[in-house]
Amino acid sequence: MSVNADELRNIGQRRLIGCWEHTSLILAEGKGCVVKDITEKEYIDCTAQAWTLSVGHSHPRVIEAVKDQVEKLATTFFAFQNIPMLMLAEKLIEITPESFSKVLFGLSGSTAIEGAMHLAMRYTQGQDFVTLYQGYHGRTFTTVAMSYTYDAFVPVKRGMERFMPKPIRVPNPYCYRCHFGLKYPECKLLCAKFVETALKHAADTKVAGVILEPIQANGGHILPPPGYLQEIRRICTEYDVPLIFDEIQTGMGRCGRMFAAEVFDVVPDILVLGKGLGAGFPITAVVTTEKYADLEKGEWGFTHAGSPFACAAALAAIDVLIEEKLLENAEKMGKIFMDGLKEIAKKYPIIGDVRGKGLMIGVEMVKDQDSKEPAVEETQKILAKALERGVFLGKSGMGLQGGNVLKIKPPLCITEKQVGKVLDVFEEVLKEISR
Ligand code: PMP
Repeated sequence: MSVNADELRNIGQRRLIGCWEHTSLILAEGKGCVVKDITEKEYIDCTAQAWTLSVGHSHPRVIEAVKDQVEKLATTFFAFQNIPMLMLAEKLIEITPESFSKVLFGLSGSTAIEGAMHLAMRYTQGQDFVTLYQGYHGRTFTTVAMSYTYDAFVPVKRGMERFMPKPIRVPNPYCYRCHFGLKYPECKLLCAKFVETALKHAADTKVAGVILEPIQANGGHILPPPGYLQEIRRICTEYDVPLIFDEIQTGMGRCGRMFAAEVFDVVPDILVLGKGLGAGFPITAVVTTEKYADLEKGEWGFTHAGSPFACAAALAAIDVLIEEKLLENAEKMGKIFMDGLKEIAKKYPIIGDVRGKGLMIGVEMVKDQDSKEPAVEETQKILAKALERGVFLGKSGMGLQGGNVLKIKPPLCITEKQVGKVLDVFEEVLKEISR
């Protein structure tokens, strides 16, 4: 079928069930951090396509591994094991914290979070989960229920309530907009104490687990202050409630270490991985200790979970991350980005906060530094103008804030020259919208 760009756009409009804010771009090819659309225009991709392409677009070693595997065996279902699946399970145990020994494969991040919830519920015999304000864990009925509140996610939740369990939400450690108007460290981590009171007083059943993103991603790139995750760890240990880290975005090198758990030096009981794990191929995983690894026969499984080609991609991607020193590059380029952004922030008061770890960077845009009113329309404008100039940026700070945090999360192989180009484009755009 040979069609031109306009015809393709037309097909998209007529045929796709649209429920997403699409750009008008149709992507055709990518290499490293650069992607081309069907008109051959090039872009630096600071979204890494939903942050999945940690090793970059079309890494030759990943492609080779997938091709080899597909030629041998493309798929197996849950009753069978396959070689890449077993090798990947072994590799994940090698790279995750020492106490971990068991793996459950999933297909999407959402299903992996549900897998983690199954493990936690079987262990505790509980049904209630504690989650954080502005947490995001997926879009299946259960995981969307564990995510933003109803008001913040009306289009997704309205009319669907019957299938959505209610989590116990506690304040997130959002120091830039502290829910209590306090400052760290005088706050004495008041927000963390809510987890303890929730475990003691708020549940209708035994609490099955505490689920959180070590750095809240879609919620606004919100980093916990020092000691916060340690305090949550202490509480979960004391109450014998599993601590589940959703590292679907933060894992696989994004924050300059293999896992955010290492960045913050806190070991969860259950670790959920996705996105960067498969380097663009559909594979997610739940990794845990012997203690939580107990499911009923047939309790959980998806046709394509643990498919050989996706596991082969993940194995190759892990080797690339390590051998090409992409974690170190993420840390180094992240610092150059953050320093550059902080310099730009001195000139443009629309930038309220610059925060991040490695190549997980957020820039919070505000109308006014004192009121901190979210600059939602301006954020949208910046995205569009950066796109015109050949840079993809992402958007978070979703939910009630309406999307006022720019996300910069390129493939971990980004070069200093590309970082410079993104910073230049960002400043040009700020100049233009401040006129
Ligand atoms: N958890 C986090 C932290 C995520 O960012 C996402 C996806 N954005 C998910 C879970 C859900 O993953 P998926 O879209 O693959 O179901």
